[in-house]
Amino acid sequence: MGGNGVVIITGGSRGIGAATARLAARRGYAVCFSFHSDSVSARTVAEEIEAAGGTALPVRADVAVEADVERLFATAESLGTLTALVNNAGVLERQCRVDELTADRLNRVLTTNVTGPFLCARQAVLRMSTRYGGSGGAIVNVSSAASRLGSPGEYVDYAASKGAVDTLTTGLALEVAGEGIRVNCVRPGIIDTGIHRSGGEPGRVDRIGPTQPLGRGGRPEEVAEAILWLLSDAASYSTGAFVDVSGGR
Ligand code: NAP
Repeated sequence: MGGNGVVIITGGSRGIGAATARLAARRGYAVCFSFHSDSVSARTVAEEIEAAGGTALPVRADVAVEADVERLFATAESLGTLTALVNNAGVLERQCRVDELTADRLNRVLTTNVTGPFLCARQAVLRMSTRYGGSGGAIVNVSSAASRLGSPGEYVDYAASKGAVDTLTTGLALEVAGEGIRVNCVRPGIIDTGIHRSGGEPGRVDRIGPTQPLGRGGRPEEVAEAILWLLSDAASYSTGAFVDVSGGR
């Protein structure tokens, strides 16, 4: 087990989750990360972490499926005591207007981006809360600048799902503040990952990056740094906090 205990990172096979898994391993966490379907990328991340002397356990588990989430948390127990959760997995779909949205799409986005983090938070609290005999811990939710901006003409459904993640952060942080658990949130801006392909615009970072106040898109590693800080004891007096990693946007 790593010196910092065990962290579960959802969606650790690619993008921000993969960068967070690598950095968490370097910071002394044993890393259990979930993925949805890209087992090749998941294996690559796990092999990189192990090659650098860390511990990585990839688990195929859909965050939107309660039984999968329960299995993810049960599997992570083989690494030791859970001390941290990063609710990172999230999806968006093709850019469109609200008047083009269907109930099927809304339900897909909301179950992954909202139900998923709630289910994972529940499992984490059951293990970490002093109310249930745990020793405390930290949760970081990955929201988006979209929760503030609304993503008009692109994906208001996605933005709204991140608004729910923000509210989960505020409510859960207050609910478990007296139980040894800190709950915080990172809101990335335009970050260079594969998620923009799902929106139908793989080059979105190149298009919008230069228009950001800092003049570029961000890297997944820059988001991982904020996540790891919020998980760490260096952030011991922060709960219910929001860190925007969005280049000034
Ligand atoms: P990404 O590169 O598309 O990676 C998404 C990750 O989530 C993959 O590991 C994927 O697994 C996993 N995943 C997707 N659906 C899942 C499910 N139902 N269950 C479990 N895992 C699932 O995305 P990203 O850009 O790194 O985004 C990570 C988080 O940051 C998301 O919450 C996103 O909304 C947020 N964010 C991103 C940006 C940005 O510009 N990139 C900006 C703001 C916020 P597979 O590899 O198996 O598909």
